[in-house]
Amino acid sequence: MGAEHPECPERLTAIGDQLIAAGLDVHVTRHEAPAATREQLSRVHDAAYVEAIEQAAPASGLRYLDPDTALNPHSVEAALHAAGAVVSAVDLVCAGKHQTAFCAVRPPGHHAESRRAMGFCVFNNVAVGAAHALAVHGLSRVAIVDFDVHHGNGTEEMFSDDPRVLMVSTFQYPLYPYSGVDNPAPNMVNIPLSAGSGGAAFRDAVLGHWLPALDAHRPELLLVSAGFDAHRDDPLAGLEFTEHDFAWVTRELMAVARRHAAGRIVSSLEGGYALSALGRSAAAHVRELIAA
Ligand SMILES: [Zn+2]
Repeated sequence: MGAEHPECPERLTAIGDQLIAAGLDVHVTRHEAPAATREQLSRVHDAAYVEAIEQAAPASGLRYLDPDTALNPHSVEAALHAAGAVVSAVDLVCAGKHQTAFCAVRPPGHHAESRRAMGFCVFNNVAVGAAHALAVHGLSRVAIVDFDVHHGNGTEEMFSDDPRVLMVSTFQYPLYPYSGVDNPAPNMVNIPLSAGSGGAAFRDAVLGHWLPALDAHRPELLLVSAGFDAHRDDPLAGLEFTEHDFAWVTRELMAVARRHAAGRIVSSLEGGYALSALGRSAAAHVRELIAA
């Protein structure tokens, strides 16, 4: 996204390093991410938007899609593979080859709307995966869990009032993108948290709001928009979570998945911009995902 941009390649290096440091790398199976197809993307994105993005990569330099979101000559390919990673993970998990999967991808996705790139996001990776699970694997109920510090406005826009998809989220409010507090759709369980909220407030929201909604919905697959920018070290926001909170919520989600979804969870990286905290948080998340 350009020099000095927080959504930088070193984010994935930091996660990879911490998986090694935590001794987890030997316990994960790595898969290459195929590019998402136009058909897969068009389940949640406007077809004309997909075509426009496919043509939008600059020959050199940067092209800005919004003030925060830029393409370099390779970004469209990366975005196609980021969405394709979640599709592939859904295929692997639904086929029983793995019970859980984590997609270490960039760019992130949850701000991308059906016809708009924004907030570092081009394609809505988790939404593409959820739509794929419904369309191809015959599932009738999925849940999307979003604990990124920013509200997942794109995912909300795509699935509001779709009874097949329950979205539960927490996010700092007020904060970019300033949405999520006025949606009456019954399938959207949005819990805004004020600046300075820590793990205790997060756990209260999960126990009091997310888990009852998830148990009522009985999802056959959980998808996670795993943003780690609610960490206290993160420079882009003001919540006070630690990696222990991310480990805790992952354990709770694993229990939900065991109750309703044969243990199936597909998680995909969203935000997280303090490199050390991001690496530790993602490793804590993966450690719980592979404890199945
Ligand atoms: Zn975020």
